[in-house]
Amino acid sequence: MNRREELAANLADVRARIGRACAAAGRDPGGVALLAVTKTFPAADVALLADLGLAEFAENRDQEAGPKTVELAGLRPGAAVRWHMVGSLQRNKARSVVGWADQVDSVDSERLADALARAARDRRLDVLLQVSIDGDPDRGGCPLPELPRLADHVARKGELRLRGVMTVAPLGMSPQQAFDALQGAVTRLRNDHPDANVISAGMSGDLEDAIAHGSTCVRVGTALLGSRRLASP
Ligand SMILES: *Cc1c(COP(=O)(O)O)cnc(C)c1O
Repeated sequence: MNRREELAANLADVRARIGRACAAAGRDPGGVALLAVTKTFPAADVALLADLGLAEFAENRDQEAGPKTVELAGLRPGAAVRWHMVGSLQRNKARSVVGWADQVDSVDSERLADALARAARDRRLDVLLQVSIDGDPDRGGCPLPELPRLADHVARKGELRLRGVMTVAPLGMSPQQAFDALQGAVTRLRNDHPDANVISAGMSGDLEDAIAHGSTCVRVGTALLGSRRLASP
């Protein structure tokens, strides 16, 4: 199998998993977006996935993503792709990230939101608020009790468009417990900000659980591209 065939087979498997999970949950598969996480993989793979019909790609490190997005633009000029930043982000990288990302999914503080708004200037940058369900400060994310305040802050920024939340499954909690904890916060967020309706949750290992609990976007790396040789920090 060449790389294109391999990626096509992986993509078919992932789509089938999403389809089965939606069927089991009584949900429309059109309501679950597939975000390909391409960190550590080359722009050539992104090009092949774009040829296969994917349009949303994510990276977690600014230094890697910037050159990769430029390379992709060379490989597939005019391809309609959108790039997401899903990794933790220092404020001094805001300007650089805004140079390549269409959406930042890892906004977890007012200060980061301010830096992104300044960097975005007259552009409108889509953002998700990264939520920490267990409040573990090492893994990034806004603790649940602070989410309403952060959401109001972001919504007041003309340069940012609040689209919803992103979460990474906490360690040592069942998916049921984690999503129960998230549910109240998401309901309140949608009540206060009706356009913030994205729930980005679920990765290669747990996308079925996430879809069962209402995820509208799954972020898939290894199941699409294979295992990563480099540990990604
Ligand atoms: C790497 C990464 C993913 C994808 O993880 P896989 O287990 O490879 O599917 C999803 N979300 C974030 C934030 C990541 O950093």
